[in-house]
Amino acid sequence: PEMDEKLKARIANHPCYSEEAHHHYARMHVAVAPACNIQCNYCNRKYDCANESRPGVVSELLTPEEAAHKVLVVASKIPQMTVLGIAGPGDPLANPEKTFRTFELIADKAPDIKLCLSTNGLMLPEYIDRIKQLNIDHVTITLNTIDPEIGAQIYSWVHYKRKRYRGVEGAKILLEKQMEGLQALKEADILCKVNSVMIPGINDQHLVEVNKMIRENGAFLHNIMPLISAPEHGTHFGLTGQRGPTNKELKEVQDQCSGNMKMMRHCRQCRADAVGLLGEDRSQEFTKEKFLEMSPEYDL
Ligand code: SF4
Ligand code: SF4
Repeated sequence: PEMDEKLKARIANHPCYSEEAHHHYARMHVAVAPACNIQCNYCNRKYDCANESRPGVVSELLTPEEAAHKVLVVASKIPQMTVLGIAGPGDPLANPEKTFRTFELIADKAPDIKLCLSTNGLMLPEYIDRIKQLNIDHVTITLNTIDPEIGAQIYSWVHYKRKRYRGVEGAKILLEKQMEGLQALKEADILCKVNSVMIPGINDQHLVEVNKMIRENGAFLHNIMPLISAPEHGTHFGLTGQRGPTNKELKEVQDQCSGNMKMMRHCRQCRADAVGLLGEDRSQEFTKEKFLEMSPEYDL
């Protein structure tokens, strides 16, 4: 179905959400959030979170102050820069002080830049009020299953309120919080996209059900991403020998889901420090060594 006009207007200059916009508007991610509160079996902790970013690329960790400086520098060099996302390298909401401090600094210094956040959803109900206060209008939840038995195969543990839960017990907590988070976003009228990592033999046949559930709970876009298992990306935490889907398998599942809602097919699984238009990666122009030497050309 076509998106309604109001929604279209809201995502018009968001390169990740609007296929038209991604040719004209740029986005950047800043890597300020190193810790994570769950352990996905497909994760390779040495690299960026698979929430949004390609596993297998290491990004430079920044303090909130460095991140804010970088955003201002980039925004003065790339005028099409409209969106700032925090997506890792761990889970942004497992690093609430760093994440929210960064957003605060940017909201204060560059109020026109749209803020977005990517999370596994565990702490989303907890921080929904701060998310509202900061005017973050786009949130992405990585949600791979709605079945705790499948969840137990995907998540090795979940660390919640000072306790570590394993197996089905851990998965249940995560799934419950993801669901609450979805509903809280809907109530707050914050746009929500869902990412699902497609893992052949584990959740591939189940993603149609995931799609149905998230649609009923207000997500406006579903992004089904392939598990990346190329050897150069290193080993996954707990899925030894697991292969990723073929392009054909991926497309089949995306097609099965697309009858129901808008699918996102242009996501590039960018790095946690990506900079520029979606097709391009200008992160190397703005490494820490370089951007700390630059000053913003104008005060935003
Ligand atoms: Fe890794 Fe999963 Fe945490 Fe992302 S959410 S950093 S993939 S364990
Ligand atoms: Fe956009 Fe890249 Fe984020 Fe995907 S990973 S939503 S393409 S910035």
